[in-house]
Amino acid sequence: HSTPRVALVTGTSSGIGAAVVAHLRAQGHQVLAVDFNPAGREVAEAEGAVFHEADLTQAEACRGAVDEALRRFGRLDILVNNAGIQHVAPIEEFPQEKWRQIIDLMLTAPFLLTQAAWPSMRENGWGRIVNIASVHAQVASPGKAAYISAKHGMIGLTKTAALEGGAQGITANALCPAYVKTPLVDNQIADQARLHGMEEQEVIEQIMLKNAAVKRLIDPSEVASLVGYLASDAAGAVTGASWNIDLGWTAQ
Ligand code: NAD
Repeated sequence: HSTPRVALVTGTSSGIGAAVVAHLRAQGHQVLAVDFNPAGREVAEAEGAVFHEADLTQAEACRGAVDEALRRFGRLDILVNNAGIQHVAPIEEFPQEKWRQIIDLMLTAPFLLTQAAWPSMRENGWGRIVNIASVHAQVASPGKAAYISAKHGMIGLTKTAALEGGAQGITANALCPAYVKTPLVDNQIADQARLHGMEEQEVIEQIMLKNAAVKRLIDPSEVASLVGYLASDAAGAVTGASWNIDLGWTAQ
């Protein structure tokens, strides 16, 4: 049973972020749920979390989100960097504004949120940073240059935070899931089905699970459970690590 803490989770309107909010609330933590989609309010409030609307591609919005957690709850103990988007195009055609948006949201925002959260964690001698990376932080696939670059960068940020935080009671870890059943993936399944003229089930089996030993999509709650462990008192010796939840994808 872990001590009640204050958590800030990003990208909480759907998918993994919503599952993380539910899991941390069930563990008795207070949660600020941050998303740019106002629909996130209902999702957050259903779990007893506080919603904060912010577009995390904006630096001031990152600072503002941490300030809101400190104002509401007086401290910040757990930061879960989860907000993310995808754009698929070959490098030759990859839109530069999409590259910038993805790097801003998925690499710069986690850095700025970590920076803003750090003083409160340091003062309390206890902090947990959990970065939702991806199997695409370990390996690449064609067409996802910005996403894969941001996720690989996130591993570097995680390792650096772990080294700097070690003496201050702050841990940092990354999670590397393969395909999780969320709206982000549902959209990709639909796109690929159109692109290849396939049934959606064929896309899942032949494209998404091609490299998987366990032939099914991951449930968001499975990712949330590991976040819960990494954010707990019990995980104090675990830091700087990348945790694959990848159906065995990178085992080969
Ligand atoms: P999702 O689309 O269901 O959720 C992403 C959330 O981020 C949404 O609530 C969205 O509103 C929010 N968001 C997007 N842009 C934002 C912005 N500018 N400011 C604030 N919030 C913003 O996706 P998901 O599948 O739950 O993905 C969550 C994280 O998990 C992402 O970082 C993703 O890369 C990672 N991930 C997902 C999978 C998967 O298969 N679904 C696999 C590996 C890693």
